[in-house]
Amino acid sequence: MTAEIREILGQIATVQDMVIAFEDEGRCRRVLEAVVWPSGRICPGCGYRRSTMITGRDKGKTARPGLYQCSNGACRLQFTATTRTPLHSTKLPLRVWLTGLWYILQSDKGVSSMRLAEAIGVSQPTAWRMGHALRLMVGLDRQLEGVVEFDEFYFGGKPRRDAGPPKAGRGQKGRPKTLKTPALCVVERPLTKAIGAVAGGAGASVVANLSESEAERVLTHAVDPSAHLMSDEWRAFVEAGDAFAAHETVHHSSGEYARGQVHANSAEGIQ
Ligand SMILES: [Zn+2]
Repeated sequence: MTAEIREILGQIATVQDMVIAFEDEGRCRRVLEAVVWPSGRICPGCGYRRSTMITGRDKGKTARPGLYQCSNGACRLQFTATTRTPLHSTKLPLRVWLTGLWYILQSDKGVSSMRLAEAIGVSQPTAWRMGHALRLMVGLDRQLEGVVEFDEFYFGGKPRRDAGPPKAGRGQKGRPKTLKTPALCVVERPLTKAIGAVAGGAGASVVANLSESEAERVLTHAVDPSAHLMSDEWRAFVEAGDAFAAHETVHHSSGEYARGQVHANSAEGIQ
């Protein structure tokens, strides 16, 4: 996180300060851009570092502040700070996300999803997902270590028809069949499973599809090579996991969800 963001958030001492600080949507957007792009704007489609702001003159009345276009001729993606992040598929205003971020940064020991839900007026499952997404966004400098579980899940929002087929066998296991925005999440195994316990580091990344290349992209970014990975047996995950010190799988298709220490229940809890 940049010094600028620390300064803005550091000036907010009370809930009242926060309401005033995040009243202005333009300011919210600038804060969020600094959180998402601490070292300058990056195209979420191809990683290109050059892009142009789309102004009202280019786009007529449809242009909105914070819309950019990738300068890579092969990409030309139009994006905002939330494109392809967990924030994108929610209908929550930026103000709500930033308020959640403030609550999370206020507490050294982490804030429970119950408290977060109460503070920002969303349901507890929503607060839980928001907490993980926000911790990922502000903690990108740290790769996850130790026992790290990973799994796929789906963010809410409009079903995407181009999301690719669901994983084989999952439809019969009570998983939702609706194709929503797919994402991969990685979670450090917490030291205790008690309700309200502070979780280890976690990350989630929206992916174009559940392919091996996407799994690899997320894992190499978020997980330290020394980590001990835990996941289900999906082939792409198995192959992507070969790059890490150890990788164990559980076999959901044969009805197995946990085998002693080998399980991915923390990551699955994000769904
Ligand atoms: Zn691009």
